[in-house]
Amino acid sequence: MRKPFMTGNWKMNKTVGEGAELVKALADMVWGVEDVTIAVCPPFTALQPIGQALRNTNIALGAQGMFWKTEGAYTGEVSPGMLKDVGCTYVILGHSERRGRFGVPDKDVTEELITVFGDNDATVNKKALFALDQGLKPIVCCGELLSERQAGNTDAVVVSQIKAALQGITAEQMADVTLAYEPVWAIGTGEVCEADEADRVCGVVRSTVVELYGDCVAQATIIQYGGSVKPDNIAGLIAKENIDGGLVGGASLKAADFAALVKAASSRA
Ligand code: PEP
Repeated sequence: MRKPFMTGNWKMNKTVGEGAELVKALADMVWGVEDVTIAVCPPFTALQPIGQALRNTNIALGAQGMFWKTEGAYTGEVSPGMLKDVGCTYVILGHSERRGRFGVPDKDVTEELITVFGDNDATVNKKALFALDQGLKPIVCCGELLSERQAGNTDAVVVSQIKAALQGITAEQMADVTLAYEPVWAIGTGEVCEADEADRVCGVVRSTVVELYGDCVAQATIIQYGGSVKPDNIAGLIAKENIDGGLVGGASLKAADFAALVKAASSRA
């Protein structure tokens, strides 16, 4: 039986003070929930103080990205060691927003501009390998654009992203890897993927893990769904066989909403 995993991705939200207020309220609300793994991923600027605030709670700390070197002339980047130093256990890798793939068009953040900073299959793989090597647990994201879905390429995109991200990762290391299926068109748009379809694609992700590592590893791998997960749609999603939790953006910014998601995951556990 896989333990559900709910991760809050705060993205570029919350000052230190706002984040501290949020986790204080959240910690009270989810205290005692032991059958769900809970993590929040604040922006880099808030990691250290939020890590402190999470001490003696059942909420783990994660980061929203990292670089694949221990140190050096990599302006603007952070290493896994730095993230561990401030208390991180997890790191989100390959989020569509880091790949320059957006569900909501933004004229100030075009694909052309963002790819300069963005991830691709090769960097996600390098980061995943290095995170594991350095003792951080990666949450590796995959997902299709609306145009790819409309062209009937959803499964091919997801399979190819997962295979690329996991290259060189061993079966033993897979115990520390979480996979997240996040259809790009459903991220931050309010448009949730229907539970049956989300489950089907998470099943495609699991089948890919079967192909790469065998059934035993695949049955133990945590696969999250992400994309406009909210208190009013979580029940349908979390009830599905292949959905083991959520990678949650907007609804993780309010303590009561994220606590409701954690409790829904707990009731399935
Ligand atoms: C995300 O941050 O990965 C995400 C899915 O965002 P939202 O829940 O806001 O769609």
